[in-house]
Amino acid sequence: MKNLGYYNGKIGSIEQMMVPMTDRAFYFGDGVYDAVMCRNNIPYLLCEHIERFYNNCLRLGINSPLSQEALYELIFELVKKVDANEKFVYFHASRGCALRAHSAMPENGNICIMITPLEIGDISMKMRAILTPDNRYGLCDIKTLNLLPSVLAAQQAEGFNADEAIFCRNGIITEGSHCNVSIIKGGKIITAPKSCHILPGVTRAHLIDEAREMGVIVEEREYGVDELKNADEILITSSSKLVRGVKELDGERVGGKAPELLSLLQKRLLSHYLDATKPIS
Ligand code: PLP
Repeated sequence: MKNLGYYNGKIGSIEQMMVPMTDRAFYFGDGVYDAVMCRNNIPYLLCEHIERFYNNCLRLGINSPLSQEALYELIFELVKKVDANEKFVYFHASRGCALRAHSAMPENGNICIMITPLEIGDISMKMRAILTPDNRYGLCDIKTLNLLPSVLAAQQAEGFNADEAIFCRNGIITEGSHCNVSIIKGGKIITAPKSCHILPGVTRAHLIDEAREMGVIVEEREYGVDELKNADEILITSSSKLVRGVKELDGERVGGKAPELLSLLQKRLLSHYLDATKPIS
């Protein structure tokens, strides 16, 4: 198949799949999601993503109709059906089906999965970013389906011919519209601390671990616009990008002053991805 859609046991191409109008994801965005890269039919860091996904379900009181183990096995089965070496696996659980009422609490959620070809590509290619006010609510640590501010920010970035929008809340950098943001300064990595204003990214955690293993100091603390603009490098991390540098912020040149450390971090994350998704012989 060129892509795959799954909805509560039904499978088809994404373009042909239908979901009921009563699904609360449709009219309230009432659900949580997660996403992983997959290579050689091995979903990358799937356990970490599934763990975050079920924690988020728990926090919002959403009952997934599948156990963690069942979802894990299902994803491994489904990825084999899509004809591509590298793919992106998106999965979400909505609270379930009910006529539209804010307080309705259906017993069981619905599981939706979409698998599409996607390559990580050349991570040494630097990105362009814009700064934009962070007008999201205070549940950014939960990966909910309510992504309107992120969608608008990403569209704004696209309008400026940029690849990513970096959110700024009261002068403090939080994260990107669909990534975490860190900086390198004086050989250290500085990254926003975990809070309700950022998603605890799986790649961010991995970057921190790899950096500390290399002996690099990582400070999890708030930093502002000036520190971002004067950073030796600005780092974007996400599952589909691993770690990429930023070359332009609001049209001004940024970073480029710690290329060796950036490249070492990229090598570590890329080799981990390639090793973990080596074909099983
Ligand atoms: N922050 C936001 C808002 C995101 O949407 C994402 C990824 O989708 C991330 C951070 C990065 O998270 P991860 O590294 O787990 O993909």
